[in-house]
Amino acid sequence: MYYNENTIVYYNGAFIKAAEARGNVYDQTLHYGYGVFEGIRSYATENGVQIFKAKEHFERMEYSCEAMRIPYPYKNEELIAISYEVLKRNDLQDAYLRPLVSCTPNMSLTKAKGSHLLIAAWEWGAYLGEKLLRLKSSSYRRITPVSFMVAAKVCGHYVNSILATQEAKDLGFDEALLLDIDGFVAEGPGANIFLEQDNVLYTPQLGSILPGITRSTVLEICNELGITAIEKQIKPEEFKGADSAFFCGTAAEVIGIESLDTIPFKKDWKDSLGIRIQKAYKDLVLAKKFKQEEVSA
Ligand code: PMP
Repeated sequence: MYYNENTIVYYNGAFIKAAEARGNVYDQTLHYGYGVFEGIRSYATENGVQIFKAKEHFERMEYSCEAMRIPYPYKNEELIAISYEVLKRNDLQDAYLRPLVSCTPNMSLTKAKGSHLLIAAWEWGAYLGEKLLRLKSSSYRRITPVSFMVAAKVCGHYVNSILATQEAKDLGFDEALLLDIDGFVAEGPGANIFLEQDNVLYTPQLGSILPGITRSTVLEICNELGITAIEKQIKPEEFKGADSAFFCGTAAEVIGIESLDTIPFKKDWKDSLGIRIQKAYKDLVLAKKFKQEEVSA
């Protein structure tokens, strides 16, 4: 599904066939979830294929490696150029890119001795689908900043996300909503969240969430459209039955939410602030408003 016999990935300094890439069974990432990754989208635009916010994603990957003390001997501009080459060699346009920095063999609980770099790409439609989502409040809390570095995109953090998503699906819902350790609304398993109340958007403040690149983009869009957006601690009771809500993330893009624990949001999605953001986001990723420096080869 993610690759076939012709798929090319960039792995440890070379473009090779995905089917021929080999890992080591003593790699630290495999045993302990100690590695970092990114999720990036590219779009077919009027200016050709564009990787959206490539610089921001690779800067976050560099930060994640620094935070985890994983060697990052790469130049981000080179990784961006390599990413475009991976797309080209696989004849991909609207695609999802997955850079992963994994660690070399080390069975001790000490910092990485060395790292591998993978950049893979595949075609991926709307990650959470096109329909409005029915969310379930998760019985799992989001990882906490006293135990993990939540601003880093670390492989092992996603065990929490898998538990939450699967629990929601097992109960017949589309996706989960997680609270932070103090009981405030945090985020989805793979996306940040906004809610609308009385014509204002609210989103959880940074601290217990992944600082999403899409979340920042949504805040920029709000600024441009003159929509008030406030970052604050949100209680679950403020969230339930609000006017409207949406998830945002690179894979999910901007996707409306129909209900939380079967309680519907008040406004029709078509009348919400979210749909305006969704349209503006689509315009932006399709390069209709890209600044010149973001348009590369
Ligand atoms: N929160 C979590 C837990 C995520 O995995 C993601 C996806 N990377 C996001 C938020 C959204 O981040 P971004 O907009 O940078 O993709």
